[in-house]
Amino acid sequence: MRTLDLFVFIDAMGWDIVEKNQAFAWLDAYRAPARTILGYSSTCVPSILSGMLPQEHGHWTLFQRAQGTSSLAPLHKLRRLPKSFGEHHRFRRWLSKAYGRYAGIEGYFDLYALDFGKMKDFDYTEKQNIFSVSQTCFPTIFQKLDEKKIPYWCADWKKSEEEGVASLRKRLKEAPACRWAFLYFPRLDGLMHRHGPQGATLRLYWYEETLRELTRDLKAQGWEVRLTVMSDHGMTPIHRHVEIPTLDGTAGLRWGEDYLALYDATLARYWFLRPQARERIMESLSHVDFGHWLTRAEISREGLCFEDNRYGDAYFLTNPGVLIHPNDMGQNPPLGMHGFDPADIHSTATILSNHPEAHSVLGETPRIDDFYRLMATALPPSVAETKRIYTPSRQELRSQALHLAASSQASASSRKEASR
Ligand SMILES: [Zn+2]
Repeated sequence: MRTLDLFVFIDAMGWDIVEKNQAFAWLDAYRAPARTILGYSSTCVPSILSGMLPQEHGHWTLFQRAQGTSSLAPLHKLRRLPKSFGEHHRFRRWLSKAYGRYAGIEGYFDLYALDFGKMKDFDYTEKQNIFSVSQTCFPTIFQKLDEKKIPYWCADWKKSEEEGVASLRKRLKEAPACRWAFLYFPRLDGLMHRHGPQGATLRLYWYEETLRELTRDLKAQGWEVRLTVMSDHGMTPIHRHVEIPTLDGTAGLRWGEDYLALYDATLARYWFLRPQARERIMESLSHVDFGHWLTRAEISREGLCFEDNRYGDAYFLTNPGVLIHPNDMGQNPPLGMHGFDPADIHSTATILSNHPEAHSVLGETPRIDDFYRLMATALPPSVAETKRIYTPSRQELRSQALHLAASSQASASSRKEASR
C-alpha cells in the first residue's frame, strides 16, 4: 500500500464553526483549536507554509510603505479620475487584473479600495506566488519537498476548488509515485465575509463529503491517506462600524508632510513623518471605546517587529466585531471579518488529522505556524535517503562482509572452546 500525506487548507474554517457544525467528526485521531497570528490570510498562509513569524518571512498586510519606487506608482496618475468611475468595483476588478499582469505580479493581487492618491507611497506585499518553488522570497515547505526530490502536488490557487480536486485525482492516477499533496480551498472565507459565519454550513458539508469520497476512492486504488485539514483563522460577526477620525485640519496635521496612514478592516496603521505627529495621532485614538494601540509586548508576541517599520510606526487594532469603515480594503462592509485579537473566540483556527504522529508533533495547543512542522514530519524519505538506506556503497558492503567474516570466525572458535 502506498502512503499519501494529504494536507487540505480551508480558509477561515474557525474552530467555533467546526464545533457548532460537528464537522469532520471522522477525523478523530487529532482535533485541536489552533491560535492564529494577528493579521489576515496574507500573514497566516506564509506562516503556515514556512513555520515562520511575520517578522521572519516579511509578509503581514497586503499593503506596506514603499521602499524606493512603488510598483503601484504608475497608478498614482489615476487619482484625478472622477470618484464614481475610479472607485467603481467593476473598474477596480478589471484594473487589478490588467495591472497585475502588466507589473508581472505573480501572487494574489487586488487593488482593493486603496486610493490612487496613496499609490506612490505604498507598495503591494505579495508580488510573488508563495506556492511556487522558484518564486518565494522565504523558504517554504515546497522548497523542502523540491530539495529532497519528493514527488508532490500542490493545487493551483487560481483554479476553482472543484478543479483542484479533479486535478489531484488525475495527478495521482498519472503519477502514482506522488507521496505528498496540498489542496487549497479558499471559498469559505468569501462566503462568510458576505453572509457572516452562518454562511458556512452548506460549504462545510461540501468539503466534508468531497474529502470523504476522495479518501474512499484513493483507498480503493491502494492508497493509505494520512489526511490533515487545517485553517488559518476564523471569522468574527461584525456588530459595529467605526470611522477613524480625520486628522487633516482638525488635528493640525497634513497627509504626506506630518503622517501617512493605511486603514485595513481592523487595523489603522500610521507612519509619523514629524515627531509632533506621533503624540497628536495617538491622542486622537487614545480615549475611544472601540479598540487600542498595540503595545510593544503584543507586537513582539505576534512576531511583528519589522526593523524597517514598513508596516507602520504604530498600529491601532479594533475590538472583535468592530469594523473600520470606510477603509482601504473594501467599499461594501462585510458581515464577517477576521484580523482581530487572536485571543478572540471567533478568531481561533482549526487542525484535524488522522495522522498518527499529529499529537506528538503539535501537542494540545498549537499555533498555526506549528502546522509546518507536521507537514515537514510527514515528508517521506527522499530518493537520495532511500538509496542510502537500501543501496549501501561498495566500501560499506566490503566492511560489512569483513565484519561478518570476523564475527563468524569468532563464534566458531568460541563454540570450539565451549565444546572442549
Ligand atoms: Zn478573508
